[in-house]
Amino acid sequence: MNKNERIVYYNQDTFWNKDFLLIERDRIRLQHIVNIIPDDVKSIIDVGCGNGYILNYLNELKKYNRLVGVDFSSNALTFVKTEKYECDITSIPFKDSSFDLVMCNEVLEHLTINEFTSALKHLKRLTKKYIIITVPNNENLEDDLVCCPYCFTWFNQELHLRSFTKEKIKNLFYDFEILKCFEAGPENIYILRNDISRVFNKYLIKPQPSSYAICPSCGYQNTPSKLKIRLTYRIINKVLRFTDRKIKKKTDLICLMKKKFYEID
Ligand SMILES: [Zn+2]
Repeated sequence: MNKNERIVYYNQDTFWNKDFLLIERDRIRLQHIVNIIPDDVKSIIDVGCGNGYILNYLNELKKYNRLVGVDFSSNALTFVKTEKYECDITSIPFKDSSFDLVMCNEVLEHLTINEFTSALKHLKRLTKKYIIITVPNNENLEDDLVCCPYCFTWFNQELHLRSFTKEKIKNLFYDFEILKCFEAGPENIYILRNDISRVFNKYLIKPQPSSYAICPSCGYQNTPSKLKIRLTYRIINKVLRFTDRKIKKKTDLICLMKKKFYEID
């Protein structure tokens, strides 16, 4: 999937034309973010702000001098009510230390290796003091693999390319002091497939992509009518899953970090 195809993918209306506050996981994340923003923060940039549901909420609080959203999806930005810029995470047009707080929520897991390396540099250089990162909690990327019915490429349908633990975040932000790092969100049940279930899933069921997923290899996108087939797969899958081990864990990791050395105003 090249950059233009990724932009087409992330411009889909289905991602942005909705109220995230109605979704439990997103609502809980927002509440935690609001609670952990330090009192001395006056300016915030939200990198990969999506439709701005976090920025728009913070804007209502009238506590901040400057709220800025950047995203590479022009469609997402139409919903953002604060200062906003359409740009790529690898080229954010602000000087070093421009913001008291840099936020990056549910973005890092989507980035290719080059984007990821560049994004880390930008997050660290843009902040004067703090960074807030939220990512899926210790995600098993194999769980969400689906098989393109057209070209048979297997891919993670959320286009998640990496997974994070507290330890990984601490290592990535070695030059920051971790003030808070905790699991949050609803407790989801995760399946640890046994060998029979895994082989059955991989060779016979071949989970189909959801309607919003786009195959990164051939660009195929499922139509709702074809999703009926998926329902049958799901039923078979459910029966099989009785034999799998299940664990419960919270969906998100939320981290607040402080630059180890920063200029005093
Ligand atoms: Zn395909």
